[in-house]
Amino acid sequence: MNTLTLFAPAKINYLLDVIGKRPDGYHDLRMIMQRVNLCDEITLTVTNSTEINVSCNSKGVPDGPGNITWKAARAMLDITGSECGVNIEIKKNIPVAAGLGGGSSDAASVLMGMNELLQCRLTEKKLMEIGCKLGADVPFFIFKKTALAEGVGEKLTPLPNIPKCWILLVNPGVHVSTAWVYRSLQLTSRRELNKLPEFFGSIEDVVSILSNDLESVTISAFPIIADIKSRLMDLGAIGSMMSGSGPTVFGIFKSLDVAETACHEIINGTNWFVATVETL
Ligand code: ATP
Repeated sequence: MNTLTLFAPAKINYLLDVIGKRPDGYHDLRMIMQRVNLCDEITLTVTNSTEINVSCNSKGVPDGPGNITWKAARAMLDITGSECGVNIEIKKNIPVAAGLGGGSSDAASVLMGMNELLQCRLTEKKLMEIGCKLGADVPFFIFKKTALAEGVGEKLTPLPNIPKCWILLVNPGVHVSTAWVYRSLQLTSRRELNKLPEFFGSIEDVVSILSNDLESVTISAFPIIADIKSRLMDLGAIGSMMSGSGPTVFGIFKSLDVAETACHEIINGTNWFVATVETL
């Protein structure tokens, strides 16, 4: 076998608390991260050359060493001492720079896929260590479970009892710089954190924890995000929140029918990315 296709899912943040700034410039976070079934498709082909080639169907995505999947492949070839090359073909379905973790998920898929193709037998823990150097969200996509993520995002605890729900994703396509959002966040002192429920018995329990410290920063520059949140609630969502540093907003729905009707209402007259998805 020298070729493999993997599905790299997007994520949303049910919770994103920024606890404080670290001496290394990163932030200590507490997040609850959930994968959804909107996926990029990554096809890996091992070659006899020593080159890494990346091709992608989306214009906004770099195709050489600037692509996070190129870095993931480089790391795997270096660590295993393999003398082959790899072609990485990316079909992007996840909007880029959207707060949905698309690049991180693609990188995680390349680490896991090359581990299999090259028969490296690296453990999940080792792959997560390699992934963390590429991006703080990469380990979560190797973990493959709904999780409480702490530290910069690399300390993961599974949350197995979170109920499944229907999610409507709405991305108005405005450009949000993640670096700008974190720079603009006013952190006074290390904050006290709300206690999390021990058990999530219902979708309402999920809705009760929705919170994102970055949301007010992004909304101050892009009020459209607040408009989308209220629109989702008017159309039957039981909770709504911005994901990551934005600009994607998600609504939580109890029924697929209501979510799909809301989806059609919002798509009408806009050129936004709007999709009904299910939690994984
Ligand atoms: P996060 O939620 O982790 O902050 P995001 O969803 O906001 O991430 P990405 O879609 O991962 O953002 O893209 C961030 C930047 O990374 C983009 O500006 C893009 O040019 C670059 N990039 C590099 N490789 C990829 C990739 N494979 N897919 C998407 N973007 C990539």
